[in-house]
Amino acid sequence: MAQYRIATIEGDGIGPEVTQAAMTVLREACGAGTLAFQMLEGGAGHYQRSGEVLPEETFAACRDADAILHGAAGLPGVVYPDGTEVGNDLHLRLRFRLDLYANVRPIKLLPGVLSPLRAFEGGGIDYVIVRENTEGLYASRGAGVVLRDEIASDSLVITRKGTERVARFAFDLAAKRNGAPKDGQSRVTVCDKANILRSYAFFRRICEEVHGDHPGIAIDYAYADAITVHMLKRPDFYDVIVAENMFGDIISDLGAATVGGMGISPSGEIGDAHALFQGAHGSAPDIAGQDVASPVATILSGAMMLRWLADRKNDAGLAAAAERVEAAVGAVLAEGRAVPRDLGGSARCTEVAEAVRRALG
Ligand code: ATP
Repeated sequence: MAQYRIATIEGDGIGPEVTQAAMTVLREACGAGTLAFQMLEGGAGHYQRSGEVLPEETFAACRDADAILHGAAGLPGVVYPDGTEVGNDLHLRLRFRLDLYANVRPIKLLPGVLSPLRAFEGGGIDYVIVRENTEGLYASRGAGVVLRDEIASDSLVITRKGTERVARFAFDLAAKRNGAPKDGQSRVTVCDKANILRSYAFFRRICEEVHGDHPGIAIDYAYADAITVHMLKRPDFYDVIVAENMFGDIISDLGAATVGGMGISPSGEIGDAHALFQGAHGSAPDIAGQDVASPVATILSGAMMLRWLADRKNDAGLAAAAERVEAAVGAVLAEGRAVPRDLGGSARCTEVAEAVRRALG
């Protein structure tokens, strides 16, 4: 069987524990020799030791690998002189240098997981947020201006090219899914504030233009403030949501909270040639090194990685392995075999990984 090189950055805090857990599960799911994990330095701890958050060797290995798996990065108090966090800079640098323009956040309520939205338990929440990842309000990170200690400004950047490609990604994704749980309709919802800013009106107009190539998929619009209400009141209406960078960042944490929280929510940052997969959570320094973190988000991110690789490499074996990993996680949680603490259980990180590994059977 083919061997795939996975550039692996454990990072800081709970990063090493959840990465090891995901590697245990992925190795078992794919069979020996299929995945070669190349362990790489990077993150806030590495910055403290060396002055570099993303060493050049790590960047080169990520660029040359088949995919990138990351635990988490960031440590309290490790900040640049301008006050911004060092840890975040690891994946931001990879994001820009490898052009990972679509940040994909599945929001799916698994059987056995309690949602604060009780009415939708049993399959009522299953949508994907596609967050534009390289421009929007975060485009000016590091280049904002603070004038005379009186005025601060950052610029919102929307380009035709950046919006077209992320809109296309969202419509292509909707074409592969089964539609919204409520009505089975394939639908892309554009999340913006087109009523307030020209830049968002432009974002919406370009999404509309891209919709012209996808007549079978419905298009829908929601203002960023209104969608926070809809995501709680009628989450079953959503199939794919495409959003500007900052709005996507904010609504994906809200979505995660409706399906069990950050410890269960996977993410992929995907470009045309490279992709990075990591749990949606941060490095959780408050629980690091205690074997109590949930590895579920990283394991499910690993399954996303297998699916992305399966498509690119035309390898049906990897797609089947991804399905087995998701089914095993579902079975372990639904049957209460090993429920992590953030979901109300008492299983340790290593116990959850072992239970999922065994459930792959
Ligand atoms: P970042 O800004 O880097 O995303 P954050 O400040 O939002 O990070 P997290 O590191 O995600 O914060 O942690 C937020 C809370 O969620 C913490 O109390 C942490 O313990 C908890 N948490 C995060 N990830 C997990 C996990 N995998 N398992 C259990 N609890 C977690």
